[in-house]
Amino acid sequence: MRDLDPSAAQLLHMVRAARRVVAFTGAGISTECGIPDFRSPGGLWSQNRPIAFSAYLASPQMRAEAWRRKFAMEPAFRNARPGRGHRAIAHLVAIGKVACVITQNIDNLHQMSGVPTDRLVELHGNGSYAHCLACGLRHEIDEIRLIFEATGAVPDCRACGGIVKTATISFGQPMPEAAMLRARAEAEVCDLFLVIGSSLVVYPAAAIPLIARRHGARLVILNREPTDLDAHADLVVNADIGDTLEPLTRLDG
Ligand code: NAD
Repeated sequence: MRDLDPSAAQLLHMVRAARRVVAFTGAGISTECGIPDFRSPGGLWSQNRPIAFSAYLASPQMRAEAWRRKFAMEPAFRNARPGRGHRAIAHLVAIGKVACVITQNIDNLHQMSGVPTDRLVELHGNGSYAHCLACGLRHEIDEIRLIFEATGAVPDCRACGGIVKTATISFGQPMPEAAMLRARAEAEVCDLFLVIGSSLVVYPAAAIPLIARRHGARLVILNREPTDLDAHADLVVNADIGDTLEPLTRLDG
């Protein structure tokens, strides 16, 4: 077994010593799975500015554009499998070390890695299905694709005629209240809060690590590049997520 570099060893030590850990993940944990993040060079942000919620509601043309982008990204999401970071976190949940995974991701990979849904908080929803914004009825992506390809238009809800949207949170869209409450509550009671692969610029999600800090948790930020919250962290690891988290699978409770 090769020696760990000092920061990975320190992380292992901190996780071993912790009583209740929260993992807070962003798009950086899924880049090794073939899903681009937002803000790295070549990331989704450089290709297309996101469509705000108000714009999505305002025009059928914007909805069609949003779905065109969704279908273009669909093969990457569909083919993605959990990476080393997801597997390490799932292991820490399985041994009772991580009490809760709070994710900003919409890619379903934590679920696929075996994290039970009652241990997972999705702050920005889930992109693997759609729902009606009026009545909440679930719609499948494939069903929308078939209609879109045949008509060039995004179908309205088959039950109530409301606007159908992926079950994700767009800029300007209200945050899911229950998820935010649970995330804040978990941040308040953990003693170690791990930020993994997030630029920490999307609010209100990015405020959650500071809630943990204020309530006395130690804070670790694991990201390839610096973030605005680094000054608040007990440990910052600017390295690859898979490389850094993989050794945590050695922990056994
Ligand atoms: P972000 O793109 O703003 O930041 C990702 C960070 O991860 C970057 O700072 C980057 O340097 C780092 N990173 C990328 N790959 C890494 C690796 N292998 N090792 C270490 N660091 C790595 O992402 P965010 O903070 O999560 O915010 C973006 C928003 O976009 C989120 O709200 C999320 O909902 C959405 N999003 C989700 C996905 C997904 O579900 N996989 C993908 C893109 C965007």
